[in-house]
Amino acid sequence: MKHECDGLKTVTQAIQKQFSDYENIEPPIELFSGQIYLNFTADKPFRGKKKQVEIPVLLSKCPFCGEKYTSKEVAT
Ligand SMILES: [Zn+2]
Repeated sequence: MKHECDGLKTVTQAIQKQFSDYENIEPPIELFSGQIYLNFTADKPFRGKKKQVEIPVLLSKCPFCGEKYTSKEVAT
């Protein structure tokens, strides 16, 4: 069963309202699981320099309603 709460939709609609000329507003969602992720950044040593990398971390719970994402949802 898909996660059904309109938290994301509400935020997306609010963004759209504020920036009415923006198109295709995409939330940070992992395509296959539908889970929301956060991007952490870090400096990774690379050939004597540091390179900034992004580390996407999937959330285990919905940040809007607090419901846990089920493993079924992750699998489909
Ligand atoms: Zn939710």
